[in-house]
Amino acid sequence: MIGFELTPEQQELVAKTRAFADAHIRPVARQYDLSCEFPWPVVQKAYDEGVVNGAVPKQYGGAGHSSFEGTLASEELGAACSGIGICIDANNLALTPLLVGASDDLKKRIFGHLVESRGLAAFCLTEPDAGSDAGSVATTAVKQGDKFVINGKKRFITNGKQAMYHTVFCNTDPGRGPRGMSAIVVPADTPGVVIGRELPKMGQRASCQVEIEYKDAAVPVANVIGKENQGFLIAMKTFNRTRAGVASAAVGMAREAYETAKKWALGRKQFGQPIASFQAIGFMFAEMLTEITAARFLVWNAAILTDQDKEVGTYSAMAKYYATDVAMKVATDCVQIMGGEGYSQDNIVEKIMRDAKLSQIYEGTNQVQRLVIAKNTVK
Ligand SMILES: Cc1cc2nc3c(=O)[nH]c(=O)nc-3n(C[C@H](O)[C@H](O)[C@H](O)COP(=O)(O)OP(=O)(O)OC[C@H]3O[C@@H](n4cnc5c(N)ncnc54)[C@H](O)[C@@H]3O)c2cc1C
Repeated sequence: MIGFELTPEQQELVAKTRAFADAHIRPVARQYDLSCEFPWPVVQKAYDEGVVNGAVPKQYGGAGHSSFEGTLASEELGAACSGIGICIDANNLALTPLLVGASDDLKKRIFGHLVESRGLAAFCLTEPDAGSDAGSVATTAVKQGDKFVINGKKRFITNGKQAMYHTVFCNTDPGRGPRGMSAIVVPADTPGVVIGRELPKMGQRASCQVEIEYKDAAVPVANVIGKENQGFLIAMKTFNRTRAGVASAAVGMAREAYETAKKWALGRKQFGQPIASFQAIGFMFAEMLTEITAARFLVWNAAILTDQDKEVGTYSAMAKYYATDVAMKVATDCVQIMGGEGYSQDNIVEKIMRDAKLSQIYEGTNQVQRLVIAKNTVK
């Protein structure tokens, strides 16, 4: 049986997240976009209201959302402000490696401390010379007794400055490429963890990305997630799960831009009639609504397959590239529909256009998503 009706619990989750976004994100979205400050008060409020750590099971102190429920929440956060949304949702990305690979002991230790401290975590994969080619990380982790000593540089790390734990992908068996990578939990207060420059950027400006250097940072061997040299597999399994979240935030951005432009086009008159009544504008709305709906169904498909523990790599890549391309196109069209008003910072669509661009780049660029699909399809 295939249906698109949300259960009462799912409707409640949407309503609760939307109410949180209306009360605590929308009123300050522009302010944080302009100031580029980290929205700590919003993140703490999100902790109070159970909006952080959605993917973490209840037994470890999280909200215990299924992947599908996670996409419902991310769409609401993305619609309100994707910049503040990723400050909240970055914990899901950073903690999913533990969910897919860690022992129960490590999960209890890290989640317990993190939730109790209402803290943030950061996913640390990208390096100056390892972006799309994520398997080529140069950061090393060398075993010395019961410790791993980590050396190397990461960049573009979301919440890296604010996080109390880093999930760091390192080379533990040089020469073996992706097969020599391990994922290791590094407490941010470990001596040798040096937070560097913040990235000045175009969109999602409420969020913060930093460079991080690990200089002889020693952590217990027990902090390795899963087995040594399984890090690349853990990173890929993580992305298979989390890309639906990026995609659903993009659906939220597109929805918000569409609703804003629709309201405006119904009220704005030129040549004696609302501009929405011009066929050229009406067709743009028709295409946008079709694409937003298609994107949402691709997102739901990927999330449901994840929840059913099915092979989801191809479908989460489809959802990610399609939904984020739709967000970029819809935001651009909405700016066009609103003319000079759309380009102005008096309206939110120019911000959404800048924010949407980033979603085509992070968690694997949309070229990389196409590579994944092609590799799985025409081997
Ligand atoms: C704001 C922001 C937040 C981020 N947050 C995080 C984070 O929290 N943690 C983290 O680890 N990383 C993070 N990243 C890094 C992000 O995932 C990378 O930027 C992304 O994977 C692309 O890597 P790159 O920037 O090095 O681009 P490159 O890999 O240098 O790619 C440049 C261009 O070449 C294209 N390209 C590369 N290889 C191929 C190919 N084989 N075929 C076709 N085209 C190709 C790419 O699609 C892209 O268009 C973040 C980045 C940004 C900008």
